[in-house]
Amino acid sequence: MGKHSVVLIPGDGVGPEVTAAAQKVIEAAGVEIEWRIFEVGAEDWGPHGAPPLEAAMEEIRRCGVALKGPITTLPNSGLRSVTVMLRQNLGLYANLRPIKSMPGVPSRYQDVDLVIVRENTEGLYSGIERRVNADTAEAIRRITREASRRIARFAFEYARRQRRQAVTTAHKANILQLSDGLFLQCAREVAADYPEIEHRERIIDALCMDLVLDPQRHDVLLCPNLYGDILSDLAAGLIGGLGLAPAANIGEGLAIFEAVHGSAPDIAGQGIANPTAVILAGAMMLAHLGEEAAARKIEEGVRELYVRGEHLTPDVGGQASTEEMTEAILAMSV
Ligand code: NAD
Repeated sequence: MGKHSVVLIPGDGVGPEVTAAAQKVIEAAGVEIEWRIFEVGAEDWGPHGAPPLEAAMEEIRRCGVALKGPITTLPNSGLRSVTVMLRQNLGLYANLRPIKSMPGVPSRYQDVDLVIVRENTEGLYSGIERRVNADTAEAIRRITREASRRIARFAFEYARRQRRQAVTTAHKANILQLSDGLFLQCAREVAADYPEIEHRERIIDALCMDLVLDPQRHDVLLCPNLYGDILSDLAAGLIGGLGLAPAANIGEGLAIFEAVHGSAPDIAGQGIANPTAVILAGAMMLAHLGEEAAARKIEEGVRELYVRGEHLTPDVGGQASTEEMTEAILAMSV
């Protein structure tokens, strides 16, 4: 296969540390990539409050694919999340988050293998928020038939392709009768086209309890935006933490791959961030680019390292640095 052009957004906080690790592992797997690097982290905001996003987005439209580190959004800063802007402006409507147990990681459960499919462009993250007066603020939780059907179709198609048994739609349609009611109705309509896949419906709060008590029972989870965001961190916690969970943001002909985790300001600059999530996101990216053999090699290398239990970062019970862990993954995946 020829050389691929990929946009790289290192991000900020631990972002540059973990994306550098992923870059190294991808290159060592023998895939030729021309990296098109764009700095759009928190420090790169212009004097007028806008990050240099246009150029990066134009390049992502041209290349079709990006690997991205996390980007900080400070609460109460008045600034919008760069990550959310990228997803919305590029129409990356599906956020796909596989949560799979890693052998040997100290965690509450083994054998978890579920996938969160999160609607990525609307819901409570529509960006329609206003201050009514000094003491009141409100946000609009926009749910549309078009986006709900599109994400439901994505979830069921994914389930069919990956030979998954069930899709569970997370909702709160008993209270949010109109908005979650519409999301659920769209899921039911789409489910009818996939008779071989069981469609389950769970109220979001009950689903949270189910996940904590018995995560192995779950398969594909179809969620409106906010629920999917919260469930992803919960689910990452079930398998040993945020250092392990990769994500893909997928739209029509465009995709951005990243970790579920954020910029981890508490450990940034210490060289101890776990690079696994971004490396696995890199493997998802390679599969998306048609480089399945390299993707598999990387995934197997990562798992082998965890089986051996050596050269792991502190969050997963080891004492290694990001660099030592990356070198060890490199050694396992060539
Ligand atoms: P976070 O994910 O950055 O960190 C939560 C906890 O997990 C911290 O204790 C952190 O040290 C740990 N952690 C995260 N990644 C780790 C890794 N690779 N290795 C080891 N430990 C890891 O969540 P937060 O603190 O709530 O958010 C920090 C910032 O990141 C915020 O500004 C938020 O807006 C941003 N954020 C960005 C993205 C993104 O760009 N996709 C996603 C989530 C949060």
